[in-house]
Amino acid sequence: MSSNGNGKHVKVLVLGSGPTGYSAALYAARAELQPVVLTGMQLGGQAALTYTIENYPGFPEGVGGAQLGELFQKQAEHFGAVTEFASANSVDLTKRPFKVETDNGDYWADVLIVATGASPNHLEIPGEVELTGRGVSYCATCDGWFFKDKKVVVVGGGDSALEEGLFITRYASSVTIIHRREEFRAGQLLQKRAKEHPKVDFILDTVVTEVMGTDKLEALRLRNVKTDQETIYETDGLFIFIGHTPNTQMFKGQLDMSDLGYIQINERMETSVPGVFAAGEVADPHFRQVVTSAGMGAAAAIQATRFLEAIEGTEITATD
Ligand SMILES: Cc1cc2nc3c(=O)[nH]c(=O)nc-3n(C[C@H](O)[C@H](O)[C@H](O)COP(=O)(O)OP(=O)(O)OC[C@H]3O[C@@H](n4cnc5c(N)ncnc54)[C@H](O)[C@@H]3O)c2cc1C
Repeated sequence: MSSNGNGKHVKVLVLGSGPTGYSAALYAARAELQPVVLTGMQLGGQAALTYTIENYPGFPEGVGGAQLGELFQKQAEHFGAVTEFASANSVDLTKRPFKVETDNGDYWADVLIVATGASPNHLEIPGEVELTGRGVSYCATCDGWFFKDKKVVVVGGGDSALEEGLFITRYASSVTIIHRREEFRAGQLLQKRAKEHPKVDFILDTVVTEVMGTDKLEALRLRNVKTDQETIYETDGLFIFIGHTPNTQMFKGQLDMSDLGYIQINERMETSVPGVFAAGEVADPHFRQVVTSAGMGAAAAIQATRFLEAIEGTEITATD
């Protein structure tokens, strides 16, 4: 990395510090490209928000989400990756080196690896924003403890909703899972665990239409989607797990994207702009796992290395 009055010049700039970002950084660091990782707001990414990860290979007993994030970071830094606590605010991908504006100044990058992942969707109903942090949460690991012996509602029907709902049973006196359909998308094993758990019950075919309370969450307005009947449901906590939206706003008009806003890549993690690679949840609406994201991050760095070799004529091998 070199600095001058116009900012810092780096060979490889990685946007994002989740499993994708640090896997890319590990491979780029081992290729002696001194990658710089911009952490964004969530060091460790979404994986760091979950209490335990049981399906990342190499950890037969499971591993804490935050702990896994720290291990990814440590391993990449061991080989020379540099972590910078900053978020990219805008990018200019019209020419290389690419310009990235951050709250800590500008970066100029020979290649860019976009690993900005995704952020939780909101219900977008009255009261949700006002009562976030006052009973409404999107992170069980962060906030579950505050609901000791309290009544909690979880909204969602996928793996995250059931997994996190089960986690909250450690603290809450009861966990009610509200889902807009009768069937769950979550895996069978998780469904079985949730259905058998004595603290968990379900309200199906139902949506939350209003979050109610003055200083803190007091109740939810619910509507049965089949009968249209409305009820008021008293609760102390509301945890929302209804999917994610890729963090791609700043690339609009610069990189090709799908209708859902995922960056379009080929099998080599190449985007529509040569020298810009994307990997992990920012580009993958299908798998969205730590292991698949990490694999894509590694692939992006290998390809980025080859790209630099081709344009610089240098002898660099990412996998040595
Ligand atoms: C509650 C929950 C539980 C989960 N449990 C599991 C599980 O058990 N097993 C499993 O395999 N997967 C699980 N997942 C999914 C897994 O966490 C994700 O698939 C994985 O974290 C995606 O990695 P990523 O690096 O692509 O993106 P993310 O983890 O989303 O990381 C994105 C990174 O980009 C950064 N960023 C965003 N915007 C900017 C910006 N403008 N500038 C710089 N940086 C930016 C963020 O700060 C973050 O560091 C879970 C997810 C959630 C939410």
